[in-house]
Amino acid sequence: MTFDRWNPPPGKRPLVAGAARSGVAAARLLARHGAHVTLCDRREAGALPEAARALTAEGVALAAGTDDPALLDGCDLLVWSPGIPVDHALLVTARERGIPVMGELELGFLAAKAPLLCITGTNGKSTTTDLTGALLRAAGREVEVCGNIGRAMCEVAEDVSASGLLVVEVSSFQLETVTKLKPFVAAWLNLTPDHLERHGDLENYAATKDRLFAMQDEGDYAVRNADDPLVAARRSGHGAPLEFSTVRPVTEGAFFEDGHLVTAWRGGRERLMPRSEVRLNGPHNLSNVLAALTIVMPLELPPDLLRAALREYGGLEHRLEPSGELGEVRFVNDSKATNISSLEVALQSFSDPVVLIAGGRDKGQDFAPMAPLVREKVRHLVLIGEGAEGMGRAWAGVSAERADSLREAVEKAYAAARPYGTVLLSPGCASYDMFRDFEDRGRRFKDEVARLVSLAQGGAST
Ligand code: ADP
Repeated sequence: MTFDRWNPPPGKRPLVAGAARSGVAAARLLARHGAHVTLCDRREAGALPEAARALTAEGVALAAGTDDPALLDGCDLLVWSPGIPVDHALLVTARERGIPVMGELELGFLAAKAPLLCITGTNGKSTTTDLTGALLRAAGREVEVCGNIGRAMCEVAEDVSASGLLVVEVSSFQLETVTKLKPFVAAWLNLTPDHLERHGDLENYAATKDRLFAMQDEGDYAVRNADDPLVAARRSGHGAPLEFSTVRPVTEGAFFEDGHLVTAWRGGRERLMPRSEVRLNGPHNLSNVLAALTIVMPLELPPDLLRAALREYGGLEHRLEPSGELGEVRFVNDSKATNISSLEVALQSFSDPVVLIAGGRDKGQDFAPMAPLVREKVRHLVLIGEGAEGMGRAWAGVSAERADSLREAVEKAYAAARPYGTVLLSPGCASYDMFRDFEDRGRRFKDEVARLVSLAQGGAST
């Protein structure tokens, strides 16, 4: 492991492109190191986050309302925010002029003293990243969780000591510009067609994900999902291979066998615990749990502490989140399910049929292939938003009704579920037709559930 990555510093006169969370964190980090930073954004100053405008007090020059390549004059480094497409004129010009280009993630890596545990994939990144952080914390390790999950890498990179760890959720957008990133553990969870509008085709998308492993050497670890042929087939970098599987034993890593989670490490095998004792349920989460166990394996955490943490860990907000009970009806918030593949894994997580609230902004998805699963797992449908009509048509034969608001949907779903059962909000669509984002949708669902519970208990209505 190298801890002297910031020598020499990557740039004295950097231009940071994009004044959202990553760009602001990168600019602040560089300014702290004495660089003369310019932070630019196409948006006018008034439209930028307060945190970006506040940076001028820290010596950062703010170039608002422009992304003109002339900004590169006199610059020795361009720092890139993952939200900006890589065919942007600023980046193309920097390459033509031979100015080094670095993503915010890579900058954070250079500044960090701690080793990185990086997690990428199409689905399950946030859950696996957060769980990995929880396992490490439970074992008393110094750890920060960052990256795509909320806090930018540059925000916390320097806060963790060399004996601590940085757990980083990495999106494929962040990998497009990396050349130095060298995680101690790199993990790739799965690959399904997504974001192809930016990456072109599946091969290109896979090659981008694969960059996470490219700089690893024999002292590092490369974790791959043995159940995903597209992931398992790749072999870049020199990290020691580790695997996880929900269906078969692996030589080094974690797997599921006879109802138990099993770890395999340095030739030994251990039955860690029964699956039934792990609080996170659903087949997809079994995969995420095995991934997290494999990621922390090189740290040799005490099994007792791992067991305790897995009994305890309840998952992230808006992902199959238990959100209240009324009598024997329980409510589950899965607002993060913004596409049909997420709705599919949610339905597979319940053994008994549920009352499903679904619908929202229709992204032109084909709902018809899901009809058999919906017929098997849904006893009643309450449809909301723009997607309602298409879903109703595609899933004909399932008892269904329409609601014009989330409040009405929760009330109708509760009425249909009583006296016992599960009401699941798993929309399978984007939220923007009725809500600010999926978080807003999930919180409002929980508010409506709380209101219903309070009304039933004789409390005041709001
Ligand atoms: P990401 O950060 O990659 O979007 P999350 O952990 O936030 O992943 O999960 C988002 C949604 O993806 C979940 O609500 C679930 O529907 C689905 N999901 C989670 N893990 C997996 C997995 N291992 N395989 C397939 N789908 C998954």
